[in-house]
Amino acid sequence: MKYFIFIICTFVIIFYSCESKIDNGINNSFEQKDDPLVAKLISMGFRADMIEDKGDYYLVEGDISISKKELSLQKPTQAMTQYLVSDSKIINVIVKADNSIPSSGVDNWRYEIQQAINDWNSINGSKITMSYNESASNPDITIMSDNGSLNDNVIAASEFPSSSGNPGWRIRINLDFLSNMTVSLSTKQYNIVHELGHCIGFRHTNWVSRGEENAVTVPGTPGDDPNSVMNGGTALYSWNGFSNYDISAAIALYTDGYWQNITPGGRLYQIAVGSGNDVWGLNAQGRIYKWNGSNNWINITPAGALLNISVGSDGTVWGINTSYQPVQWNGSNWLVKPGVLKQISVGSASHIWGINLSNRIYQWNGSTWINITPAGALKYVAAGNDGTVWGVNMSNQPVLWNGSDWVVKSGVLTMISVANNSNVWAVNSQQKIFKWNGSGWQNITYQGGLADVSVGSDGSVWGVNSSGLIYKGNFNLPF
Ligand SMILES: [Zn+2]
Repeated sequence: MKYFIFIICTFVIIFYSCESKIDNGINNSFEQKDDPLVAKLISMGFRADMIEDKGDYYLVEGDISISKKELSLQKPTQAMTQYLVSDSKIINVIVKADNSIPSSGVDNWRYEIQQAINDWNSINGSKITMSYNESASNPDITIMSDNGSLNDNVIAASEFPSSSGNPGWRIRINLDFLSNMTVSLSTKQYNIVHELGHCIGFRHTNWVSRGEENAVTVPGTPGDDPNSVMNGGTALYSWNGFSNYDISAAIALYTDGYWQNITPGGRLYQIAVGSGNDVWGLNAQGRIYKWNGSNNWINITPAGALLNISVGSDGTVWGINTSYQPVQWNGSNWLVKPGVLKQISVGSASHIWGINLSNRIYQWNGSTWINITPAGALKYVAAGNDGTVWGVNMSNQPVLWNGSDWVVKSGVLTMISVANNSNVWAVNSQQKIFKWNGSGWQNITYQGGLADVSVGSDGSVWGVNSSGLIYKGNFNLPF
C-alpha cells in the first residue's frame, strides 16, 4: 500500500511539473491540493511523498521540520534557502540543550553539541559564530529530545531560518534512533554539525540525487560534493571535518568581512591599488586622484586626464591618456611613452602589460613593447609583481599566462586585478565580486556589487561601483 501511494504521488508531481510549465511557471497548486500549506511546500520544491504532517509542523525530506505558522507567512514561490540568518544574528547564535536531553549517559549529547559548535566557528573567512549556553533563557537554537516524534530511522530534525532572519529554532534528537542503537561520539558530532547547518540555512548538498527539488545552489560550489557534511541520508556517518566546498559555501553565505564605503566628496570610476594606502583613481572625466591615507582624495591632475590607471607594488604608476598613449608618473608629471594602448596593468616596474586597440597583448621590456599574442587576443590584462598575469579573453573567460600561452580558467568575468599569485580578484558583468581561491572563484558576497576592483600586494582591496561609490574591503579570507 505504501508503494502504491508513492507511485501515485510521483505521478502527481510529474503531472504537476508539466502543468506548471504550461502555466508559464506560475504555481497554481492551491486549487489542486486539499491542504494549502502542503501545496505551498510542494511549490517551494519539496516532494509530496517526502512531506509528513506532524500536527503543528511538517517533517520534510526526512529531517527538516517546518512550522505551519512560519509556512503560512511565506510566499508560495520562494525557496526555503532564501531565508538566511541575519548579519547581526549569525555572529552570535546562542545554542542550548534543554533538560529533555539527559545530563549523563549515552543520551547526553552536550559534549558533541559543543564540538559541533566549535567546528562551525572554526571556518576561517566565515563570520558564523555560535556559542553554547546551558543557562540561556532565550536561546536561538534549542536542542531537545524528539519525544518520540521522529521516525526510527531519523536521527535528528531541525528547522530552517525564519523569514525574519533567525536561525531555525530547534533541533530534535531521536534518542531511540534505530531501535536505541548506541551512536558513537563522532557520529553524534557529525549529525549536530549537519543539523546546525540546516538551522543556519543549508539544505542538502545532494538534493538533486535525493530527488529534492528547487534548492538554490550556493555560488561557487559544484552542486555535488560527496564529502559534504550537508549531504542527506548520512545519519550513520562519522565526523571527518568540513569539505572544501562546505567551507566555500559558509564563506559565500556568511562572509567574514565587508565593503566599507569611503566616498568623501566626489566619485571614482576606476581604482588602482599598489599596496596599503597607495591608492589612485579616476573620476568620470578621467581626472586623477590619490588617496591621502586617511580621509580624502587629492586631485593630482597636472596635465589632462587618463582613460586608465594602474599602480605597482613598488609605487610605479602608469596610465593611458586620452590619445591612447601610455604615460608614466615621475612624481610630478606624466611622461609619454611609446606605443598606442587602451589598457595597462602594472605589477611592478618590471611587470607591465598592456592591450592595444585591436586587443593585442604587449609586455614592456624597459624600453619598448613586446607583442606576446601567441593565441588570440584579450579584452583585459592584469599583471602581478611576481610575474603572475591574468587576462579576460574575447569570450569573457578568465585566462592565466603560463609563460607561453593563455590557459582558460572557469568563470565569466569583465575584469581582473592581480597583486600576485595569491591575491587575484575579479568582477563580472553583474558587478559580482570574486576572489580566486586557487581552484575557482569564491563569491565575496556584497549586495551592491562592484564594477571595478583592485588589489594591492599586501592584500588591500578597493573597488568602485557603477555609480562611482568607493569601497575598501575588510576581509579575513583563508585563501
Ligand atoms: Zn538534513
